[in-house]
Amino acid sequence: MKRITAILMGIGISLAFAGCTSQSLEGQQEQVNFFGMDTYMTITAYGEDAGEAVEEAQARILKLEKEWSVTDESSQIYQANHSGGSPVTLSDDTRDVVSFALEMAEKTGGALEPTIYPVLEAWGFTTDENRIPAPDEIQTLLEHVGYEQVSLSGNELTLPEGVELDLGAVGKGYAGDAAAEVIKEQGVTSALLDLGGNIQAVGKRPDGTDWRIGIRNPFGDGQMGMLLASDCAVVTSGSYERYFVGEDGKEYTHIIDPETGYPVDNGLVSVSIIAEEGKVADALSTSMFVKGLEGAEEYWKEHQDFEMIAVTEDGDIYVTEGIEDQFTLGDSFGNMELHIITS
Ligand code: ADP
Ligand code: MG
Repeated sequence: MKRITAILMGIGISLAFAGCTSQSLEGQQEQVNFFGMDTYMTITAYGEDAGEAVEEAQARILKLEKEWSVTDESSQIYQANHSGGSPVTLSDDTRDVVSFALEMAEKTGGALEPTIYPVLEAWGFTTDENRIPAPDEIQTLLEHVGYEQVSLSGNELTLPEGVELDLGAVGKGYAGDAAAEVIKEQGVTSALLDLGGNIQAVGKRPDGTDWRIGIRNPFGDGQMGMLLASDCAVVTSGSYERYFVGEDGKEYTHIIDPETGYPVDNGLVSVSIIAEEGKVADALSTSMFVKGLEGAEEYWKEHQDFEMIAVTEDGDIYVTEGIEDQFTLGDSFGNMELHIITS
């Protein structure tokens, strides 16, 4: 399919949020900003225990990053990927996230493919030295791709030689859930986590109103619209986020269609998922993006335990009926057509 939209800006999905620093908010506000999981993260919490809560949430995320990094030789995922087929013992967190990724891979019919790493590497997305691999190179690598080849028994993970796991599509979501949990354990009832565009809302704003979560404009700077929400995760996957322009002048994005081994090119530019859990929203944002508009609509109709905002390169926006009243399109996006997906 021909890509007709010029996507000029591609620097990270940053779902901004408005209102949470308003002067009128009562009580104490604490915030940490740090770099983790290859992205900038901001955690803001309110109330008496906010300081301790944001510190512990940050520590929790950085600990998970150490366990899951694909490049850090001491990480459990690195060790499994370089085990030469021998079993590796995982921590409970790593076992849980791997088990969840495998479950979602099956549920999405392989659209989420946690073993896509060798193909991602061939396209240069792991080193930023991008290239277009030859078709037979992709075919050979695809033989090592397939979540069915992963065996997880209790905490013991076995990957056949050549099979490599990458938690890039679900890790941040799981980390968001874990960090939100830590924050709640500290007694905090109002907090907002922005993990490089993965938004996780704990409770409501301190004044009792919904959070106002900005949905990033996939065609340029700023926000396309705003979503009112509480106690949920909002996660976006987009082709503009990380991509390169090949020698053929085409744009290639970092999300791979596991069936072909080629970057997704199906007419979608972004998919935002709203779900109770960050890990679910993260897994679905990537896999619905892979499925394309029709496939994503079909999946939503079948499951209906999440909400979705999908944007096409032609500027059409598709919103599931459950958030129709919570989503507002920005003033300058009046030329985009809004469609409601109904069950
Ligand atoms: P991001 O984490 O960049 O915000 P995503 O959650 O959509 O965005 O995850 C994209 C990442 O997931 C890629 O950078 C890559 O590491 C990995 N990935 C790419 N294609 C797939 C796929 N089909 N299934 C699972 N993971 C994928
Ligand atoms: Mg994802």
